[in-house]
Amino acid sequence: MELTCLNHNLNKKLFLFSCCMPVKGSARGAIYDLQRDDIELVPNSLIDFIGYINKKPVQIILDEWGDNEIAWEYLELLIEKEFVFFSSEDHFPKLSNKCFNDDTSKIEYMTLVVSEFIANNFKMILERIEYLGVKRLHLHWPLEADKGKILELIHVLEHSSVVNLSISLPYQKDFNPNSIKEQRLTNLYFYSSPYLESIEIYKVNLYFLKHSEQDFLLPKAGINMISINHRAFLTGRNANLGLYKTVFVNANGILQLNSIDLKEYGSILDSDIENNLFLLSEVWNLKRDKIMPCRKCELKYACTANFIPEYDHKKKTYFVNCNYNPNTNEWSS
Ligand code: SF4
Repeated sequence: MELTCLNHNLNKKLFLFSCCMPVKGSARGAIYDLQRDDIELVPNSLIDFIGYINKKPVQIILDEWGDNEIAWEYLELLIEKEFVFFSSEDHFPKLSNKCFNDDTSKIEYMTLVVSEFIANNFKMILERIEYLGVKRLHLHWPLEADKGKILELIHVLEHSSVVNLSISLPYQKDFNPNSIKEQRLTNLYFYSSPYLESIEIYKVNLYFLKHSEQDFLLPKAGINMISINHRAFLTGRNANLGLYKTVFVNANGILQLNSIDLKEYGSILDSDIENNLFLLSEVWNLKRDKIMPCRKCELKYACTANFIPEYDHKKKTYFVNCNYNPNTNEWSS
């Protein structure tokens, strides 16, 4: 089939679609299909091959690679997955690197650990949520928190800027997500569950996880933590996608980057919260291209893992302790 396709286009050139982004890693590469929100893990040699054949006349490609079995396999994949097209000229504009984040909110994603302090100050915290323009809010109930407050807090959020709500709480038997009556609720996580299960009830995803509370909040990379789309890709190229405009608010209302952050960036109730945001932005603007081993990772522009980079003074580089090894493509738990 691919031979037919190539033969039909002998007088044309081959072009890679501008929404298909080849990314090389240490041991393998990936093609991000930003139009289909999909990723294809491929050998690095295919990424090199794309660089070589892109924009070349089909006849020349066939003359040079026609006898090469691997080149045929690669061409077959590129055509089958519709990563390439044939034309006399490239009609598609290149993906702009400008305006990588057109969202005007100061914080897009907030995790809030619900405590007595948070519940007692929730009206004021809501004012901050509005001021920051938070779009995605995750409410986390620790083991000891009063779960009876769920409906009360959600009711206060009714007219807020939040468009997506998720909740985590200790395992509850027979919990009915419909009792929350909140259309913005998409995900409910039950940690410390005796079993592992994911189901959908009333358009809400329920995840029953065996993780302890601490494990549930730990930063972790995973293939399910990959976000493939145009906006995420550009954010990933210009900043750290896992941390950008993201904040963790602990039980005392203190701003941090994640649940194990040793640093504190002021309180959510501070009147000069802009200064706190500035300090946070210094970390989230650190690109993954400057962090090891992310720099060598084929997932670096799609990974939403929120590890905090640390500076290694000896090696003069930033690093994270990730559970994925891009040199071997192995995941550890
Ligand atoms: S190495 Fe970096 S980019 Fe790759 S999975 Fe880990 S945190 Fe994400």
